[in-house]
Amino acid sequence: MQRRKFLQGLGMAGLGLTAFRSALGQSSAAPLGATGRVVVVGGGMGGTTVAKFLRLWGGPGLDVTLVEPNATYYSNIFSNMVLTGERSLSQLGFTYSALSSRYGVKVMAASVTAIDPVGKSVALSNGTRLSYDRLVLSPGIDFEPLPLSGSAANQARIVHAWKAGAQTTSLKAQIQAMTSADTFILTIPPKPYRCPPGPYERACVVADYLKTVKRGGKVVILDANPGIQAEPVNFTRAFNVTHKGVITYVPNAIVTAIDADTMTVTTAAAGTFKGKVINAIPTHKAGNLITASGIGLANAPGPNGVPGKFAGVDVLTYESTAVPFVHVLGDASATTQPKAGHIANAEAKVCADAIIQLLSGGTVNPAPMTNSSCFTPITKTTASWLSVVYRYDPASRTMVPTGNGVTESQYADSENYEDMLKWFTNLMSDTFK
Ligand SMILES: Cc1cc2nc3c(=O)[nH]c(=O)nc-3n(C[C@H](O)[C@H](O)[C@H](O)COP(=O)(O)OP(=O)(O)OC[C@H]3O[C@@H](n4cnc5c(N)ncnc54)[C@H](O)[C@@H]3O)c2cc1C
Repeated sequence: MQRRKFLQGLGMAGLGLTAFRSALGQSSAAPLGATGRVVVVGGGMGGTTVAKFLRLWGGPGLDVTLVEPNATYYSNIFSNMVLTGERSLSQLGFTYSALSSRYGVKVMAASVTAIDPVGKSVALSNGTRLSYDRLVLSPGIDFEPLPLSGSAANQARIVHAWKAGAQTTSLKAQIQAMTSADTFILTIPPKPYRCPPGPYERACVVADYLKTVKRGGKVVILDANPGIQAEPVNFTRAFNVTHKGVITYVPNAIVTAIDADTMTVTTAAAGTFKGKVINAIPTHKAGNLITASGIGLANAPGPNGVPGKFAGVDVLTYESTAVPFVHVLGDASATTQPKAGHIANAEAKVCADAIIQLLSGGTVNPAPMTNSSCFTPITKTTASWLSVVYRYDPASRTMVPTGNGVTESQYADSENYEDMLKWFTNLMSDTFK
């Protein structure tokens, strides 16, 4: 996979055939007679994209409302660079103004508190009730509790910073207060978790910061999984060559206790570790709205006996396999695709196209394709990447990788770093602008 191809191809990722033609400005077979009311919950990577493309492709008869409590979305992508001062959180903020002014999406600042799948309506935190013909949920993830002990004040220092925001700022302050004798401990939960390369990326940028700014300090990665979960070639090189002597990688390190008073992490079989900063990423589950509303939880158990905690969907439409007229996208859904922002954007386009067909008596695309790409800063000036393209497999009714599966760059360099900046601008523009 040539990187420039996926940089250029981003806007076409996940398109159904008719919508693809429409996006290219060709005479379109896309039925523009779709009528109905679609409510989208969650203004992140999946929800914002589906709302935008429903309006862009669906024609004037489609009434689209996005429900999101926050006026600004802070991108998780690039948030590891906030920890080292290379980016500010405000540089990663995106609003919904283009969604309403350019595409005519109604944006409501509220949370959805309950779903009535029989009456086909949702209850909002501001007391409003919205009815829908199709409901799309993209609420992202929530977390299982950590095995934490210690005083409340000390426990408050143990953050995940896995949803960009206040915890990112807290972790940044803790890292910047480290001295050259201190250790940063990062714990990685069992898969599935959002952004498979993300924790390893975080270890690399923190190691780079400790080396270049603090002139000392160590990073210990406690990975609950048996090995590196993404870009194994790139990260093995980063840990053993680029950041040799700074990063220690410990696989099969299932965290059983974290004592916030003594700043000690205990694992089931890999030993006990002490750090100045403990960045503990808890086990993931679908956003609370999904788990609380009983939308079918179908993910296969994880390697360490983690039960399914994500919503089962039909990947032709992203409609829930348990609740009709309700679609689930992005990190909250259980598919064979990774939990990542790029693929949430691609899934959203498949979903938007399918909903338009369903609301206009058309035919759902029987052969959708999606793709995922991740760029990973390894130092302040170099990056690596991975890319994978998926196609629908009718036999297994899942998305399967095409060609050789996941491709990774094999090295980190400054050209990749420049491409990373373009990729981010394109992805976020395609989602929010
Ligand atoms: C450090 C880090 C680095 C990453 N880097 C990359 C990368 O390089 N490439 C990549 O592709 N991905 C990356 N990701 C992953 C990416 O951020 C997520 O996979 C992506 O954001 C998932 O999109 P989503 O729509 O499912 O959820 P989100 O983007 O998290 O959006 C969920 C939205 O739903 C809203 N919401 C939740 N509950 C409700 C409710 N009840 N009512 C209304 N709204 C609600 C939330 O406020 C939020 O705005 C990274 C993640 C992290 C943590």
